[in-house]
Amino acid sequence: MNDKNKLLRKLPKVDFVLDELAYKNGVYVPLAIIKSAVRETIGKYRKLILAEEPFKFPKTSDEWNLIFTEAIDKKNRLNLQRVVNGTGVVIHTNLGRSLLGKQSMEALQNAASHYTNLEFDLSTGKRGSRYSLVEEIICDLTGAEAALVVNNNAAAVLLSLNTLSFNQETIVSRGQLVEIGGSFRIPDVMSRSGARMVEVGATNRTHLFDYENVIHEETALLLKVHTSNFRVIGFTSEVPVHDLVILGQKHGVPVMEDLGSGSLIDLSPWGLPKEPTVQEIVKAGADVVTFSGDKLLGGPQAGIIVGKKDIIARIKKNPMNRALRIDKFTLASLETVLRDYYDFDHALQSVPTLSMLTADADTIKKKGHRILRRLGGAQKVKNFIGLQETVSRVGGGAMPEHGLASWALVLQPGDMGASGFEKWFRSLVVPLIVRIENEKMIIDLRTILEDDIPLLIDILKQYMKKGQEG
Ligand SMILES: *Cc1c(COP(=O)(O)O)cnc(C)c1O
Repeated sequence: MNDKNKLLRKLPKVDFVLDELAYKNGVYVPLAIIKSAVRETIGKYRKLILAEEPFKFPKTSDEWNLIFTEAIDKKNRLNLQRVVNGTGVVIHTNLGRSLLGKQSMEALQNAASHYTNLEFDLSTGKRGSRYSLVEEIICDLTGAEAALVVNNNAAAVLLSLNTLSFNQETIVSRGQLVEIGGSFRIPDVMSRSGARMVEVGATNRTHLFDYENVIHEETALLLKVHTSNFRVIGFTSEVPVHDLVILGQKHGVPVMEDLGSGSLIDLSPWGLPKEPTVQEIVKAGADVVTFSGDKLLGGPQAGIIVGKKDIIARIKKNPMNRALRIDKFTLASLETVLRDYYDFDHALQSVPTLSMLTADADTIKKKGHRILRRLGGAQKVKNFIGLQETVSRVGGGAMPEHGLASWALVLQPGDMGASGFEKWFRSLVVPLIVRIENEKMIIDLRTILEDDIPLLIDILKQYMKKGQEG
């Protein structure tokens, strides 16, 4: 009998393991999860044996028990987990973009666990519309005549194009045919919406006459797209939305702008680049403006469409709207975030995305000192962790080339290497996501929340202990 068969025979039997496994650490685990975790583990080892490549075969039943217990724990853990964001990217799309503040959370919880007037008009006792719950607030804040909210901004763009330009022409500048992360590409979305794309201008420069030259009876829409996640620099030119509006009015063609991030507050006083606000685009006369709920606005995932009354009415009536509609949890939290914007100073405090983006470097540095103090004597910590200046990012495809001055904890990797530690941090019960720079691990403190701090301290203590051992 060869080694392979010998090892295969040594693999534990499922039923035997189930009898053997003393899985009683106070956590309830459904038997189905235990069974499938044990089967998967044994299957994994069978594959390793058959692959005939070197690996460590567990020898004792204690070793096997540990392996099974870990597999069961892992399978029993929620797949969508909380993580600590040490990347310094505030609107991190892969880590869930914007966070909700306390009041939004309460509203969400309330709507989730109770009946609501989602589509019930309390004054008439008749059927109501879910859109009416936030429309007036959005109009107050943006100066628009009407508004509508959908699943996300990609849906907002798709729905608007489909309503306004199905089987008809939409003119768009070649410089604005962007791809946003997650496979959202303007040309692809346009073609799926049924709009016929007419490209004008050059990659770096488009002029008003480019639009004028191709506009005719078949033209249904002039589209402008905010080039969120990239910049063309040097010899460039874009047509301001107001000029498009004048051209559109002359020919009876509406103008739409996909703003992407769509900020309601000009953040330039806090050192961020000047971006057009939604209010400014509405004021410039755009007929439709679309933007995200969870980028610079700092709310839940949503797409917000604002614009002229007759056009929004057409979009609302589009049967596609039903497939793209917003859910009650989102509406509940979105309403509270929007209400925060009635007072900008209040919004800067209570919308986590805004407070993180506008946090000044000194405040972040103080957070770092606080953490270091709580880790114990500076002498003890010094070999492992230092505090140094770093640069955070806005993220979410917004303000791509702009860095925010920040402070970070810098960890020396030792023998395990930066990528070894990075992986270990990701494997923790509450994973910590770090950046690696110059073979060091960087924890940017801008995105470390107040209630992350006790967790982070615990993780850093484990890290220091590991470092001492290694
Ligand atoms: C981000 C973005 C989108 C997509 O918005 P989602 O909310 O992610 O669906 C569309 N257009 C632009 C210009 C964007 O920046």
